[in-house]
Amino acid sequence: MLVSRSTMPSADITSQVTLERSTVLPDYGTLYGSTGWQLSGSSRRARLTAQECRGDQRKLARVEGWPEKGKRENEDVEIFRQLENSLITCNGCLLHGVRVVIPTSLQGTVLDILHLSHLGIQLMKRLARTAVYWPNIDADIERLGKNCTICAEHQNKPHKPAVHPWMKPEKTWSRLHLDHAINFMGANWLVMTDAYSKHPCISQMQSISTKATVKLVERDFAHFGFPRALVTDNAPTFKSEEFQSWCKERGITHLTGAPYHPVKNGAAERLVQTFKQAFRKSFLPPKAALQEFIRQYRRIPTASGYSPSELLNNRQIQIRIDTLLPSPAHIAQGKQPREAVKSQYRETLSRLTTTYDVGDPCCALYYGPRRDNDPRCVPAMVTKRFGSRTVNDRVHPQGPIWRRHLEQLRPRYSSEEDNEPG
Ligand SMILES: [Zn+2]
Repeated sequence: MLVSRSTMPSADITSQVTLERSTVLPDYGTLYGSTGWQLSGSSRRARLTAQECRGDQRKLARVEGWPEKGKRENEDVEIFRQLENSLITCNGCLLHGVRVVIPTSLQGTVLDILHLSHLGIQLMKRLARTAVYWPNIDADIERLGKNCTICAEHQNKPHKPAVHPWMKPEKTWSRLHLDHAINFMGANWLVMTDAYSKHPCISQMQSISTKATVKLVERDFAHFGFPRALVTDNAPTFKSEEFQSWCKERGITHLTGAPYHPVKNGAAERLVQTFKQAFRKSFLPPKAALQEFIRQYRRIPTASGYSPSELLNNRQIQIRIDTLLPSPAHIAQGKQPREAVKSQYRETLSRLTTTYDVGDPCCALYYGPRRDNDPRCVPAMVTKRFGSRTVNDRVHPQGPIWRRHLEQLRPRYSSEEDNEPG
């Protein structure tokens, strides 16, 4: 049932705006149905909204246009009016630019998703700006971050100035920083980060021996290749002859900080600190917490505006928050877009058309009386073309002339002769 404007929560405001701009009823089922697995805790209100929308179309359709200007009966409406030019609908979801507009009833759940890895206020805001929107979302994130001791700790911790700041490498995956986090949460951890993209690789390990370390690093290098340089501290694992010769064999320059001056490997150490903070208070089981942290860290844009994944792999990865974004209908249905099918057909056609010219040798399908069940291909030569798809071809060398569609021809490269078709 439609509530009055004065008491209308944002969820209904979004419906109203959607109606006004597209005159298509918003299908909240599209937005929330597919993400029920992660929004199960608070999706009741969303489902109700969806039912209301579907069951009460005539009532909703009566809501027309924006309220008159100057009539400030509802602040939310005014906020959305200011965004009018950047509001669009996609698959029944309301978008503000690339960000999906989240109804009030789901904002708490979305905040929980943003807060999964306790990455601090700034990183949560950066993530939100690429995926979700509601009025005052920044203020809500700040309130959440300030009330969380883990996030506040991360936020307030001043970064140690690097004594020997590294030059930024020109390419991704050319200089990596490697470190161990020893005896943390009952295990040891190998932490590696790319100096250019900040792409993190973190693995749980028992022994921190050279052998165990090399085994895990090899696994990451199988995915991304060898770097030019590897920076570590002076720990025995990395100073060992085994590690030195392993680097040498792969053409990797091994760089270490000065003894008792670990700050030189600050990139890896900062990642260790961030990872520990995120891990310590995560409510997820350890393995899931690690995976969630890595996913979020790879997904959130760095100060450059691009995420580690975009910088290293040239594509953004999808995490939980991205499942709220609507995808084009053809992707949701696992079908190719109509335009792609058309262009694929045109491509096939142009390939076929250019393959056979007059005088080209080919093999033509034979449809005469058969000696077996399959039509037989016989050597022929194109003698005439009709339009773009049909040709006349003479059976090689002086046989009858057949008319064939290009799909009934096959390329022929040999000069084999066959005077008796069939
Ligand atoms: Zn937190």
